[in-house]
Amino acid sequence: MNGPAHLRTVPIEPAAEEVSLYEIRKKIYPRAVHGVFARWRWALVFATQAVYFGLPWLYWNGRQAVLFDIAARRFYIFGWVFWPQDVIYLTVLLIVAAFSLFLFTALAGRLWCGYACPQTVYTELFLWIERKIEGDRLARIRLDAAPLSLEKFAIKALKHTAWCTVALWTGYTFVGYFTPIRDLGVRAITWQLGAWESFWIVFYGFATYGNAGWMREQVCKYMCPYARFQSVMFDRDTLVITYDRNRGEPRGSRSKSANARAQGLGDCVDCNICVQVCPTGIDIREGLQYECIGCAACIDGCDQVMDKMGYPRGLIRYTTENALAQGLDARGIRRRVFRPRTLVYGVILLALIAAAAGSLASKNPLKVDILRDRGALAREAAPGLIENVYRVQLMNTDEKPRQFSIAATGLPGIVIAGVEQPVAVDAASTKLVTLRLQVPIEAQAAREALQPGSHAIEFVVEAVGDNKVVRHEKSSFLIPR
Ligand code: SF4
Ligand code: SF4
Repeated sequence: MNGPAHLRTVPIEPAAEEVSLYEIRKKIYPRAVHGVFARWRWALVFATQAVYFGLPWLYWNGRQAVLFDIAARRFYIFGWVFWPQDVIYLTVLLIVAAFSLFLFTALAGRLWCGYACPQTVYTELFLWIERKIEGDRLARIRLDAAPLSLEKFAIKALKHTAWCTVALWTGYTFVGYFTPIRDLGVRAITWQLGAWESFWIVFYGFATYGNAGWMREQVCKYMCPYARFQSVMFDRDTLVITYDRNRGEPRGSRSKSANARAQGLGDCVDCNICVQVCPTGIDIREGLQYECIGCAACIDGCDQVMDKMGYPRGLIRYTTENALAQGLDARGIRRRVFRPRTLVYGVILLALIAAAAGSLASKNPLKVDILRDRGALAREAAPGLIENVYRVQLMNTDEKPRQFSIAATGLPGIVIAGVEQPVAVDAASTKLVTLRLQVPIEAQAAREALQPGSHAIEFVVEAVGDNKVVRHEKSSFLIPR
């Protein structure tokens, strides 16, 4: 009931609390870790970087084996030359990459993120440099907390110089995929680089330096879209890195000789090593989190602790939800690798790869584009002789020069004029020829076949001395009224 106005109680508003949408980053100092999965990660670092840094230095048929020559609109990949018309292969490559990602994610979670993603690989490389120069976790924490001194400045300067050198080398290699790398090196040494080349070397290098040296886990946590949707590709039989709560809890420290069970403790000694080695700074014991990049560093870290304590390994391990719920052993988990989702991805992937490989193996090095010259209408070249003009573009995507003969069929008496045959086309070149097709309409057969209007014809272009290299191109021939 409301009382007199001067006695009415006024509800007190709770003090408004300001909540920031942005979290201040706490710098993470991942501890060095050794073990099976660390070795796998380093093997992938070596493999991917050997490919990335090594490929542009390989030679094939007297040219750079892998070169994306954007100015000439030609991509060279070993024995193949790809033209803009071959964009279908790029499409297939992207689809294959997408399905591979789906398949591997369904099988074992974020395998790509943990072992092969450039962000992981370069962060691992930059962290290695950091550890070599500044020391492991505790030394780095102490160094950062120490006031600036000449020694600290020298250590930091050395680290950043090493980072910048690696970063610029990645930028130089990147540009080396688009312009011959040896020539690029000579021009870099003699300060003759073009503006765009310099820009891309510095830009790419800066991106590597920033992402691997400074941003690190923030790229995975806030910038990478894959982290947000990868969980939809998981199912209950996907291998994920999991802390075995049943075995580990209740956690607690104890001496090595203590009887943990008698103390009512699980196997987790609460040493926090799994958190200290984690490059994203999370605690896997709190369950699967989107920040987890699946690097398995926590498995290696925990296994070392289990070894020291004399406990079986695998308190943190690759396992599946079903395996934990149903107590499946390794065999049971393997049996569920082949399930409808992985089989569908696998079959589609194999079909795509087989189709692309078959198409590449039988790739025709001749491409032909034919355009009827609309500027020159059908005309009567001589009494009873109708003539159409065509522009024929011959593309020899092969790495050797070839000669091509051009013929036309489809109308009685049709002949080609105005071009010297065979037509020579240099290696990996195009040639545009203008030619005339002539059809005599006075002949009896032609008179019956030809009415005014458009008539379907076919060009046959064939490599001299190699009848497997041939193209049949449809076109039309106009008979004027
Ligand atoms: S929780 Fe483990 S697997 Fe996930 S990112 Fe951290 S260390 Fe890597
Ligand atoms: S490393 Fe293993 S034992 Fe140590 S806290 Fe993590 S889960 Fe527990």
